[in-house]
Amino acid sequence: MNKLRSIIMFIVLLVLNSVLSPALPLTSFLSSAYAQNSSPLTAKSLRLGAIEEHTRVVVEFTGEVDYKLFTLSTPYRAVIDLPETKWDIPDTIQDKGLVSGVRFGSFKPGQGRIVVDLRGPVNVHKHFILPPSVAIENYRLVIDFEPATIATFRQLKPSVSETQTASITVPKVQSLPVPSPTPQYSAPTGEFTPKPRPRKTRKIVVVDPGHGGVDPGAMGARSREKDIVLAFSKELVRQLKATRRYDVYLTRSTDIYIPLRQRVQIARNRKADLFISIHADAIKKKNIRGLSVYTLSEKASDREAAALARKENQSDIIAGVDFGDQLPEVANILIDLAQRDTKNASVKFAESLISSARGKTLLLDRTHRFAGFRVLKAPDVPSVLVELGFITNRTDEKQLTSNKWRRRVATGMVDAIDNFFRLK
Ligand SMILES: [Zn+2]
Repeated sequence: MNKLRSIIMFIVLLVLNSVLSPALPLTSFLSSAYAQNSSPLTAKSLRLGAIEEHTRVVVEFTGEVDYKLFTLSTPYRAVIDLPETKWDIPDTIQDKGLVSGVRFGSFKPGQGRIVVDLRGPVNVHKHFILPPSVAIENYRLVIDFEPATIATFRQLKPSVSETQTASITVPKVQSLPVPSPTPQYSAPTGEFTPKPRPRKTRKIVVVDPGHGGVDPGAMGARSREKDIVLAFSKELVRQLKATRRYDVYLTRSTDIYIPLRQRVQIARNRKADLFISIHADAIKKKNIRGLSVYTLSEKASDREAAALARKENQSDIIAGVDFGDQLPEVANILIDLAQRDTKNASVKFAESLISSARGKTLLLDRTHRFAGFRVLKAPDVPSVLVELGFITNRTDEKQLTSNKWRRRVATGMVDAIDNFFRLK
């Protein structure tokens, strides 16, 4: 009986394989064969196929691939780590069978990643590479998923090197030397030593374009949040630098994923006086539009703000990373005091930001809201998160991708920053 089952499964997979491997003309094989070795690895297509209860993912690459596959639970995902990869695949991939979504992009310099969202507990039945054939010009990575239950789910563990990838050793994102972190918060003893800040002439501002790489953020009709916020952040940094009043740093300047905790750490390592995280929102109601500003609060100001924070806090999950706790919890009254000062300063800056943005762009009603955003949790750096607008609204999306609008709103932010530091 068992033998019969495996014969049937073999035939099923054989059929599946031929379904997923459309023949290509021989000429295209010959013309591209020469270019393969000179160019970096490119992912050419990603297809899903479902037959009976199995779901197969096939990714075509221009060269031989050295990949690492592992799975995660809560939520269930499969992660494929790759060498540096160029992506020649459309952004939206139709869900199928056991797969509810697929994302891909840069995970850190020199590393690409594909994250496959699974509908529930799913096991990897098998995975392998098919070399090019006469009919197929590319290498194919094939992964077969089979349904499981919570009880039968077998987590496919990353090897030692992958454990490092998924741990908190996070990518170095800037070529500039980063000052070594001053561990003011030491977990075991709970000591907190407020250090006198070195005297400096210029205020330090860290601008944080949200998402990036394997985490695209919200998706509009013709744009992605990660691109919109990077372009805006670069414009803001350009204008801030032009004033010669600030030292300005970006948490990322390319299309790369940065863990939320790392963004907070960059601000702290830079001894930032201000941290601004830039985002763009998405919502089902397509008529909703306008800019909004968020500051940290464990108690959300309203249900929408709470939902937004949940969504933005998903970034590490979306990128296929499992982090444990965030900064170690330290019970110390001095931290509470430092945090209260930081919170008050954050609120003050948020208000300044809103009054400068008024008249420059449409504001969402109750423009200043509160929620538990992870990226705002530096205890000693005033931090705000700006949702520039709604990528799901046609007018907002048009503005978000316009140079003119970007320049105008960034100028408003520079005014707000000047007012906050009273530098004018
Ligand atoms: Zn976002």
